[in-house]
Amino acid sequence: MPCTVFTIANQKGGVGKTTTAINLAAALAEQKIPTLVVDLDPQANATSALGIEKQEGKSLYGPLRGEGTALEMVTPTAWPNLSVIPSEVDLAAIEIELAQQENYLLKLRAVLDPIRNSGNYRAIILDCPPALGMLSMNSLAAADHLLIALQCEYMALEGLGQILKVVDRLKTAGVNPALDIGGVVMTMFDSRTNLSKQVVDEVKQHLSDKIFSTVIPRTVRLSEAPSFGKPIFAYDNASPGAVAYRALGREVATRFNLKDKPAPTPVAAAPAAPSA
Ligand code: ATP
Ligand code: MG
Repeated sequence: MPCTVFTIANQKGGVGKTTTAINLAAALAEQKIPTLVVDLDPQANATSALGIEKQEGKSLYGPLRGEGTALEMVTPTAWPNLSVIPSEVDLAAIEIELAQQENYLLKLRAVLDPIRNSGNYRAIILDCPPALGMLSMNSLAAADHLLIALQCEYMALEGLGQILKVVDRLKTAGVNPALDIGGVVMTMFDSRTNLSKQVVDEVKQHLSDKIFSTVIPRTVRLSEAPSFGKPIFAYDNASPGAVAYRALGREVATRFNLKDKPAPTPVAAAPAAPSA
């Protein structure tokens, strides 16, 4: 099974990266796409939002410094087709430790390679901390596609420019020439304000081919679900947030061909003509 790696990276905090990472992952899992969330944020919000308790030694901290493997860190969630590599506070130290290693930008790619090649997952979603530090840069070096969570707020486009510049630099430097801007997810859309609509329109003008047509509404249910350790589908399956993330999941599955059709059953070969 091929495996597609997405990173949800952005220098801005609180824009809906983690909410998108876990609910998009859950939406893919619901479509029977085997999905792994990798929590790269020492805050471990994705870990707890998926109902997994933080545990010392259970993160990519060890594997990133050459101790143990990422496969050993994979933890199943309560939902089928959905696993997570958790995070914990130790991971914060890797920001400094990585900087002292050779090829420091490619460490995560190397650590994830065995998982990518394991055939266990069709999609891997990396949830990044709110800064373009070592972990986020490593995620950009390891990913096939960058998904950008963009909050519907004033100055949204300025923030976007910054991350796009970083992507360009990584590509031209040869760190990850194949890195692609997979798409922009507009988050926390407030239908009562004109500002939200203006921001979506403005982003559409600049990135019409990248923006997902599903826009994520601002809803209390989406902000409540993490404290119950559940994706939105397990918390309030019919809520507008669930409807939106389910639609985003379908868009992502289609855009990136994640629902590979089973190989056609071979047609019985015609009997060979008798040789003369
Ligand atoms: P950080 O940069 O700290 O990692 P983040 O970009 O991962 O933040 P989230 O944690 O997903 O952002 O969201 C920030 C806050 O906004 C959280 O409290 C979350 O529950 C809330 N939130 C996210 N999306 C929505 C939404 N669509 N509607 C309402 N609240 C939301
Ligand atoms: Mg987060």
